Amino acid sequence: MAAKTDLPYGRQQIDEEDIAAVVEVLRSDWLTTGPKVLIFEKAIADFVGCRHAVAVSSGTAALHAAATAANIGPGDEVILPPLTFVATANAVLYLGGTPVFADIDPATLLIDPAAVEAKITPRTKAILAVDYAGQPCDYQALQELAMRHKLQLLADASHSLGASDQEQACGRLADLTTFSFHPVKPLTCGEGGMVATDSAEHAERLRRFRNHGINLDFRQRQQRGSHYYDMVELGYNYRMTDLQAALGNSQLKKLSDWIVRRQQLAAFYDQALAAISGIRPLALRQSVGHGYHLYVVRVANGQRDRLFDWLRQHRIGVNVHYPPVHLHSYYRQTLGSKEGLCPIAESAAQEILSLPLFPGLSEQDIQRVVEAIESFSW
Ligand SMILES: *Cc1c(COP(=O)(O)O)cnc(C)c1O
Repeated sequence: MAAKTDLPYGRQQIDEEDIAAVVEVLRSDWLTTGPKVLIFEKAIADFVGCRHAVAVSSGTAALHAAATAANIGPGDEVILPPLTFVATANAVLYLGGTPVFADIDPATLLIDPAAVEAKITPRTKAILAVDYAGQPCDYQALQELAMRHKLQLLADASHSLGASDQEQACGRLADLTTFSFHPVKPLTCGEGGMVATDSAEHAERLRRFRNHGINLDFRQRQQRGSHYYDMVELGYNYRMTDLQAALGNSQLKKLSDWIVRRQQLAAFYDQALAAISGIRPLALRQSVGHGYHLYVVRVANGQRDRLFDWLRQHRIGVNVHYPPVHLHSYYRQTLGSKEGLCPIAESAAQEILSLPLFPGLSEQDIQRVVEAIESFSW
């Protein structure tokens, strides 16, 4: 048998077309935000079916920008799930707001609308949902809550570009939706992010925020033939480069095929793991088109860490997404949060394991993962 190589939990797909697209930009006049960014923004807006898409330098910048457009500030509470990457909650802290953690549904591990409702106070300004593993949340219930309590609905769709709920693409299920283009995400720009919205007002604020809070960008000034510009709020340099956008554009052409491939591979896992009693996949909501950014299973009998070590010994790059945000040292210190705040997320976090899943994975690779799990002594 051939020597076993390292199998990562996720990785990018880059082909010659992607490489040529980036090289073309290197030979052009624009390296930073230019024509390729405009094309990429339009392509993402068309792909998800929203009016505006604003490109930024990372998924984290997209969250910071979206929370800014939602006018989050000191004293404002934003309700979000604890089972996410720290960047989701950090965006609220950047603005002096308070992240309020609402527990998750035990079957899907998505934010539970009933738990959200229980956390609403007069200070609540927004809900920030996370499409964990690529499965869209129950946006119908969340939208209903947002309407009734006059809250903004934000979505961290870092995992779910290309996923949908009731035939509606992620990107049009919330007032502001953020995407990440980190290499393990559904498509990559190296680093990059995007905010999708139907609101022209939000889009204008996002464009200004990513460019130092300056009211005109360089291209607009050039068109007007004027040196005038005015900084009207405190913004950042969160611009995406044309190099990144060219890669994103080229990647986007392949995204729909990749999602289908991810779904096929997930079905293959489901079937192959069905006979192993200590392993259970997450439940699917009705009516979702799952993006399968991650293939997450729950490991029974307190065996997760032993199975994790076993698979790593077999050079299989399993991972845990995520340690609950409220239990990180910084959150304990700044919010005083501790065990018991979100018991469902806390117990799920002891059992979850992400198995390798990416479009370039083969069915033999999955067979190798399944065989390694089968050889584990419980
Ligand atoms: C990846 C990720 C982010 C951050 O995106 P970056 O592009 O790495 O800044 C935020 N939230 C979630 C849920 C993510 O998975």
